[in-house]
Amino acid sequence: MPLPLEEAFDYAVPEGMEVAAGDHVCAPLGSRQAHGVVLSVSPREGVNRPLKPLQARLDEPSLPPGTLEFVGWAAKYSADAPGCALSIALKGLRAPRPRPERKVAVTGAEPGKLTDARLRVLEVAREKGPLGAAPLARAAGVGAAVVKSLVEEGALHWVAVEKPASFPAPDLSRPGAVLNASQATAAEALRALVGGQDGRGGPTSSALSLGISGAGEDRRRAESSGFAVALLDGVTGSGKTEVYLEAVAAALEADPGAQVLVLLPEIALTQAVLARFKERFGVQPAEWHSAVSGTKRRRVWEAVATGRARIVVGARSALFLPFLKLRLIVVDEEHDSSYKQEEGFIYHARDFAVARGKIEGAAVVLASATPSLETLRNAEAGRYRWLKLGARHGAAVMPEVSLIDLRETPPERGRWLSPPLVESMVETLGWGEQVLLFLNRRGYAPVVLCTACGEKLTAPDTDSWLVEHRYTGRLVCHLTGFSMPKPERCPHCGATGGLTSIGPGVERVEEEVRERFPEARTAIFSSDTVFGAEQARAMVERMAAGGIDVMVATQAAAKGHNFPKLTLVGVVDADLGLRGGDLRAGERTFQLLAQASGRAGRAERPGRALLQTWMPEHSVMQALVTGDREAFLNAEMFERQAAGLPPFGRLAALIASGPDPEALERYVGALAAATPEAEGVEVYGPADAPLGLVRGRRRKRFLVRADRTVDLQGFVNAWRARVKAPGSVRLTVDIDPYSFL
Ligand SMILES: [Zn+2]
Repeated sequence: MPLPLEEAFDYAVPEGMEVAAGDHVCAPLGSRQAHGVVLSVSPREGVNRPLKPLQARLDEPSLPPGTLEFVGWAAKYSADAPGCALSIALKGLRAPRPRPERKVAVTGAEPGKLTDARLRVLEVAREKGPLGAAPLARAAGVGAAVVKSLVEEGALHWVAVEKPASFPAPDLSRPGAVLNASQATAAEALRALVGGQDGRGGPTSSALSLGISGAGEDRRRAESSGFAVALLDGVTGSGKTEVYLEAVAAALEADPGAQVLVLLPEIALTQAVLARFKERFGVQPAEWHSAVSGTKRRRVWEAVATGRARIVVGARSALFLPFLKLRLIVVDEEHDSSYKQEEGFIYHARDFAVARGKIEGAAVVLASATPSLETLRNAEAGRYRWLKLGARHGAAVMPEVSLIDLRETPPERGRWLSPPLVESMVETLGWGEQVLLFLNRRGYAPVVLCTACGEKLTAPDTDSWLVEHRYTGRLVCHLTGFSMPKPERCPHCGATGGLTSIGPGVERVEEEVRERFPEARTAIFSSDTVFGAEQARAMVERMAAGGIDVMVATQAAAKGHNFPKLTLVGVVDADLGLRGGDLRAGERTFQLLAQASGRAGRAERPGRALLQTWMPEHSVMQALVTGDREAFLNAEMFERQAAGLPPFGRLAALIASGPDPEALERYVGALAAATPEAEGVEVYGPADAPLGLVRGRRRKRFLVRADRTVDLQGFVNAWRARVKAPGSVRLTVDIDPYSFL
């Protein structure tokens, strides 16, 4: 059942009901009826205890075996209840069914009087089948009253017609894009990989130590000859999409039932990628993300489960869709940290894509300009096929990256743009070209401080600082979503007029740009100012068409878009990511800045990227200036290896939270005392989580580091089973944590 229950239950199949694994049923659970999915059916013999009978078999598309196996594997890997993983897989079924349309059809009965008009209506209705009343009248060239009277006299009647989802087949005869030599080589390799002529597929190339086990293992192993993973590694603008589109074409050509999934980290990117697919295959792929509404969501789910939708483009949860014959998964921008689902059922969509590929016997393509260390490690070790795209597609060259040392040329007081950056902006705008200012901070100011008492404003039940948003005039907690109007008085000391905005967010930088360049057309691209895929597309189009001179953007705009007139990227605070205390800070900063500066000069014009920094000597900054990704990555790999951290070791976080500090303290104390001894495992904590209070719940965390050979989930499960948590305490397990809040 798609509920947070530890295990599946046994039921009796009543006489006359036929069910098989994957079928949807209604079954008694306590005093109510619940929706469930059949895992397996076995003969009654040997079952001595009485079993409650199933209530009904539901008429919904069954979950294919691969989906069932993936759901079970996912729950095990995340050390969570199977029902929680199942719940994601059934998301589409919880959406409302499309309402059937009311149409009129002939009954066969003759009307009382047969006029010419009536004859025409009946003829058209017989010929075309059920039609809406108005279209029928139009087609017959008569007024609506004629149709109405025929219904009243019983010659026509109303019927409910389910509108079938239309996912037309992709047109595989269309030619692909013209590829340069480097792209063509990579595309050829991918075609071979997907077509299974590579010789490297199969269990020998088993990627990651994701440890798929269980009864299905042997059978699957035989079927999984199509499994292989490739890293498509190429700088921004090298044309990765054209290359993986050829892999998609190869998968669809090889098998008329084959399905392909393309994962994207950001809804804002969907429209651009959908357009590329439309261009290549003549049809719009099915879409799956949080902005896809109710009935559409159900249609997509059903079309995937029945094999009618052959190409799906979506966000991370699309990985849990019930694919009938999944042959290829593409994970675009595979390094992106938004692939990690941090709330509810915790998982990393890139890692889970590899696991799903293995279960389904599908090829997996990971694409990035700045691959994650985890993926690079697998590529270096030969577990993934490593395809490098060289030169940029077309005539564009990589932008020239330089640092602005803020110690030497700081901005004026209360300003955020340094003199060299402003000068370059003057030049660029003078040439009629575009500027992108990048700051990965939403809102107006990240901190509001009271100058009377020195307190920084926080939400009442959470430790994180309130961010000022001038657009809405509110103070917002970005962690929990709590918000309030900006107060007149300081909530701590009551002083009026002492509340000061500290530091810049995108809104404040845009304000400075408007003051400095009153003529320039400015825009802010962040999740607070751009809602949903439609608005994002409109903003991207306006920028691409030259309707914006200066765009101030958070990371939402650092990905994937192509702006031909953009020739200057200014990174307002290049050090921002390096200040957090997490192990991927350097890697993430490098990825983000490389993507942001890679935005400049993608067409014929050369681009410049200027990075404002207080620490120009830092390895991340140096690697960006010299363009030496290898040197940066080698240094980073070396440090991680020395510390036994991912990808060389494994991590798990256990976060206990509860409203009652004493009960929480007792529980984590007992848990600490019960820590199992195990070789190759270290446990740190309990410590107050960096954000010790969230939504009124105190938080304590343990961090587990383990060698790669250790069964981390087994260790965590055995540990937490030793101490029963009191009702007020919740224990969340995060395998492979990315956030260290
Ligand atoms: Zn105060």
